[in-house]
Amino acid sequence: MSDPRDTILLKLGGSVITYKSETPPKVNTNAVQRIANELQGITEPAIIVLGGGAHGHQAASSFGYGNPETPPRRLLLGIPKIRHNMNELASTVESIMNNNGISSVVISPFMFSLLDSGRIISFPYDIISKTIEAGHNIITHGDVCYDTRFGASILSGDTIMTYLARKLQIKKILIGTDVDGVLDEDPKKNPQAKIIPIISKSNKESVLSMTGPSGSTDVTGGMAKKIGDIFLIAGSGIEATIFNLTIPNRLTDLLCGRQIPCTKIIV
Ligand code: ADP
Repeated sequence: MSDPRDTILLKLGGSVITYKSETPPKVNTNAVQRIANELQGITEPAIIVLGGGAHGHQAASSFGYGNPETPPRRLLLGIPKIRHNMNELASTVESIMNNNGISSVVISPFMFSLLDSGRIISFPYDIISKTIEAGHNIITHGDVCYDTRFGASILSGDTIMTYLARKLQIKKILIGTDVDGVLDEDPKKNPQAKIIPIISKSNKESVLSMTGPSGSTDVTGGMAKKIGDIFLIAGSGIEATIFNLTIPNRLTDLLCGRQIPCTKIIV
């Protein structure tokens, strides 16, 4: 039986595992296959959190998620489409993981989580703990959930990461995305932007002023939201590493404790 605190909490950014700017949404199966290969050597259980990418964000945005003016009726109408897309993404990742010996089950937040004004009010994690104890890896993902104020809202993969890190007292969290970490400018706009190796309480505010949203359709807030979410668990001793998961072997290196270009957030 595994201890949940030893779990590897790994986010696969939507920008890595989907073609974020393409419609209809398509999974980047080559990237998922490579990630499965890089995970082959793990001995601890993993919770793999999928960002919504093209599957979540496009459907959500077409039903007005991300726009505070959208009435609850319209948000609720979008649930089947968003759920369908997220099921498709999660099930594709699950097949690739299991075909490569990473025994995994999908646990979808829509089924059990409730939100209030976008914040988690209920996210039972006993099934998650039990699944880890049983020796399986978990695939969960950004999802649409019922919301007591808005009707429905989006629970982002980044919020799930910090929630689980806190509840299960997981000390290290790895956030894979399509840039080398947090830089002093969006590297998609300025390729000369420089990486910020460490973010802590002392430089958090100045870093947040340098970070912006995702360049592609993203209803959950891009890099600034990631940093903000992690700081919500301040004082917990958690270290989060944001790294480039589009580059082969960076995940392997991190898992083996080797240095890579990345940003560590220490809260
Ligand atoms: P993911 O889909 O992998 O979760 P997001 O698209 O939500 O990633 O966020 C990553 C994006 O944030 C990057 O592709 C980048 O364009 C954007 N971004 C904005 N400002 C910054 C910054 N200062 N440093 C790094 N990335 C930034």
